[in-house]
Amino acid sequence: MPGVAILGSTGSIGTSALAVMARQRPRFDVVALTARVDAAALARQVAEWRPRFSGLVSEGGPQVLIEAALHPDADIVLNAVVGAAGLDATLAALRAGKRVALANKETLVMAGALVREACAEGGGELIPVDSEHSAVLQCVTGREAGLQRLILTASGGPFRTWEADRMRRATVAEALNHPTWRMGNKVTVDSATLANKALEVIEAHYLFGLRYDAVEVVVHPQSIVHAFAEFCDGSVIAQLSFPTMELPILYALTHPERLPDSGTPRFDPVAAGALTFEPVRTEVFRAFRAGVEAGRAGGTAPTVFNAANEVAVAAFLGGRVAFGRIAETIETVLAAHTSEAVRDLETVREADRWARLRAMEELP
Ligand code: MG
Repeated sequence: MPGVAILGSTGSIGTSALAVMARQRPRFDVVALTARVDAAALARQVAEWRPRFSGLVSEGGPQVLIEAALHPDADIVLNAVVGAAGLDATLAALRAGKRVALANKETLVMAGALVREACAEGGGELIPVDSEHSAVLQCVTGREAGLQRLILTASGGPFRTWEADRMRRATVAEALNHPTWRMGNKVTVDSATLANKALEVIEAHYLFGLRYDAVEVVVHPQSIVHAFAEFCDGSVIAQLSFPTMELPILYALTHPERLPDSGTPRFDPVAAGALTFEPVRTEVFRAFRAGVEAGRAGGTAPTVFNAANEVAVAAFLGGRVAFGRIAETIETVLAAHTSEAVRDLETVREADRWARLRAMEELP
């Protein structure tokens, strides 16, 4: 029975993970649960699951995440922390030889090279929970050698067809009204700017070791096809399902095996209806363009992109700035940054600190 530590257990991914594991009892042993601030929700989970360790980051600091990740009974660490705060726990778990089921894509974007090094050092294993990357993993497992190109799908978010002017003035309620996925607020806003898809391109580059020109994005409003993997003979394999995070979460726990699970909606091609695809409007979705360019620039540029985005999204969610300021802030901060090679964690931290301060200067 593998032991599972969930970092961010009261968030959207954390609660979905516990719903999956409740159906799979007693296959998984819930060893540790951590939450950021929601003490009441954490207490309810602790009462139900009786983990050996639990903690609130707001009371115990980031050390709580490390302690949960390094719990000796935890074989799998599901990292569902939002944003840069999840990095240390990912590195610690990988160095300790554990499987990290990664829902914290910011970790890879900030410090992809260091995360890969930590895997190599400790023998840890990085398995994506992100639906597109889980789809890729499901398509390529057992056929890794022939992979030549990925196409990640994007729903296009609530502003897929909006003109740039109207999008610039969009409200928080409009940005949080995602057409196909129910997720936490930060990733939902990232899905409205398409910054999320740029983060995912960078994530795919590090997870699957592909050059940036071999990772493409297509808008697919129905969110049924999650990714396409093209092989060296030109054949393309795709993974499909109705949108649910429970399937990628379960697969991250069991990869490369599968477990029978009846909790997610069965696929029905007739009910799914027409599947359509269109290019990303990069001239309108400027946060996407800036993020992919930061990925290609490499070094500390992706760290800066991620940090500027986090600060700008928080300002938007706090009602302090218009939606359009998110992309503008990212562009301004990246333009002011001189990328340098990532030598160590301190390089990453310094770039992250600098970008947050620089972004705050731009925002009220
Ligand atoms: Mg995703």
